[in-house]
Amino acid sequence: MNVAGKSPVAGIPFFPRMNFDNVSPELDFALRFARQAADVAFQVEQDMFSTLTKSDRSPVTTADFAIQALAGRLIHETFPADVLVAEESAAMIKDGKAPASLDEITKVLARIWPDTTSEKIFDWVDRGTGVPGDRFWTLDPIDGTKGFIRGDQYATALALVVKGQVQLGVLTCPRLAIDSGKATVVKTGEGSVLVACRGQGAWSAPLKNRSGFAPLAVSSSCQPKDAVLVRSYEDSHTNTDHLDRLVEVLGIRSEPVRMDSQAKYAVVAAGTADLLLRFRSTNREYDAAKIWDHAAGALIVEEAGGCVTDLHGQPLDFSVGRTLARNEGLLASNRHLHGVVLAGLRAISGPADNADKHG
Ligand code: AMP
Ligand code: MG
Repeated sequence: MNVAGKSPVAGIPFFPRMNFDNVSPELDFALRFARQAADVAFQVEQDMFSTLTKSDRSPVTTADFAIQALAGRLIHETFPADVLVAEESAAMIKDGKAPASLDEITKVLARIWPDTTSEKIFDWVDRGTGVPGDRFWTLDPIDGTKGFIRGDQYATALALVVKGQVQLGVLTCPRLAIDSGKATVVKTGEGSVLVACRGQGAWSAPLKNRSGFAPLAVSSSCQPKDAVLVRSYEDSHTNTDHLDRLVEVLGIRSEPVRMDSQAKYAVVAAGTADLLLRFRSTNREYDAAKIWDHAAGALIVEEAGGCVTDLHGQPLDFSVGRTLARNEGLLASNRHLHGVVLAGLRAISGPADNADKHG
């Protein structure tokens, strides 16, 4: 692992030490934000829990808005020239139809900034409606909101994209502990923060411990039949027919593990799972994948030694706006299994799939 020398990206030095004492402003910021975001999510989970339903029928909670507001304010203060491209907008809490939610968001943010007002919240949240350009941050405040509500996995995902390339990715997985290269499900707050900088490896630490970063490494498994595959928890977020066929073609013996959010990338980066597959959803309301659903997790898997492409083996293209419009589906692997899975995908892709690909 390369821990010395100059970064290929201005402003993001190699990690000089594993305790991350002396790091770039961007990494320092991302790590501080990750822990604050985990605190906000934890507080929402303990004290308050209004859930609204977005126009695409997906849920959004107090934590989604509060964490996006946190990022909107902090990025503006720390890197005033930087753009934030994030999942939520303030429209739903602005129209007065969700007073309980707005009260809760105000309460949670007032613990950090006592002068928090509704107007300020709208402003901070809407700083996340930036247009992706040469350099921007992308955020999913609560990735896997359904998992967050259900008591399963969720993550806060923040990444820095420079000239179309993800340079820095940070994930908090409050319900996933990573210890000695093994990821395990834990109760909220006992989970982990994961970070990667391009060319410099991927690392994780317990959320409760500032200094204990350990390197992440993917598994060395190369037999498809023994592979552990992770998939979305929700059937409607993927295509279960295609998954079943692929599992059969590859001879994978164990049941795919269902998991919400970019915690899926975390378990691949930690070597606990070998494959992550995402097929285009059967739910037509979701067209292309959103960049904030993949940027941080993909870099973390790659920097842990893995490989991430779309289902045709093409690199993910983060240079075309808010979505991965040039990519269809997603495969993250420990690298050793990548080729054989792409071949399996070609084998299951018949005329019927090609017909519904762009349908
Ligand atoms: P997952 O954790 O794999 O279920 O993915 C959850 C993330 O994917 C959410 O943050 C949503 O932004 C996004 N999402 C939700 N539903 C869909 C869908 N039907 N197709 C694609 N992405 C979706
Ligand atoms: Mg998401």
